[in-house]
Amino acid sequence: MRIDLHCHSTASDGTDTPAELVRNAAAAGLDVVALTDHDTTRGYAEAIAALPAGLTLVTGAELSCRLDGVSMHMLAYLFDPEEPALFAERELVRDDRVPRAQGMVAKLQELGVPITWEQVARIAGDGSVGRPHVATALVELGVVPTVNDAFTGDWLADGARAYVPKHETDPFEALRLIKGAGGVAVFAHPAASKRGRTVPESAIAELAAAGLDGIEVDHMDHEPATRARLRGLAAELGLLGTGSSDYHGSRKTCVLGEYTTDPEVYGEITRRATGAFPVPGTGGA
Ligand SMILES: [Zn+2]
Ligand SMILES: [Zn+2]
Repeated sequence: MRIDLHCHSTASDGTDTPAELVRNAAAAGLDVVALTDHDTTRGYAEAIAALPAGLTLVTGAELSCRLDGVSMHMLAYLFDPEEPALFAERELVRDDRVPRAQGMVAKLQELGVPITWEQVARIAGDGSVGRPHVATALVELGVVPTVNDAFTGDWLADGARAYVPKHETDPFEALRLIKGAGGVAVFAHPAASKRGRTVPESAIAELAAAGLDGIEVDHMDHEPATRARLRGLAAELGLLGTGSSDYHGSRKTCVLGEYTTDPEVYGEITRRATGAFPVPGTGGA
């Protein structure tokens, strides 16, 4: 059984529509795929409608959090998308995305980059606009060769010249909201140091004590030694360890199913969730 628990669609900053994502997941030989767009659940309906037979969809989201000034992402699985408190917090984070991206465009213009808001809005399309869209504009303009090269101290990394902070949820509050909506919480790429500062292991222990269910161990931004360390930490703290592609379609280089989650860990996630059930595919539209 091949299980990939972290994927993005055009509902946030992926390049596959939700329907394309589930079709591509089936074509990649996955049995289970999670749709985890940033701070939104609006890809669910399209993904469910298109879900091929033999593929199971885990509904989720990746929530933007901040702890002691460090940005971090919290994956939430199988929560009730209608639960009002978690819904309100997602709205608050999402409403901030346009002014924030516009702020980054303005800073880049001050640095002499001929970027425009129209360009970034075109790249984002229907998706909720984010830093990868601004980064893609920098690639289009020939400022940097790849999207990853835009996520550096020169351009868009946390605290970099053109960076604008966003509203992010306190992760302890996020845990409370996810649990309140019947969901399961997994700290995404906790040691992805290429993206900027990461939280210390002591904070992961505190989050574990506060109800965190798991950490993402196998992820493209973790070196093999980091994965081994995180696997040990998960065992020590009684956390589930997941593996996922963090697929973004053609925006990033990773492929669906590049890293996967152990079926036993997946089973435990589904047992703990009370907000929603995994959706079995029935053939798709
Ligand atoms: Zn993330
Ligand atoms: Zn992600």
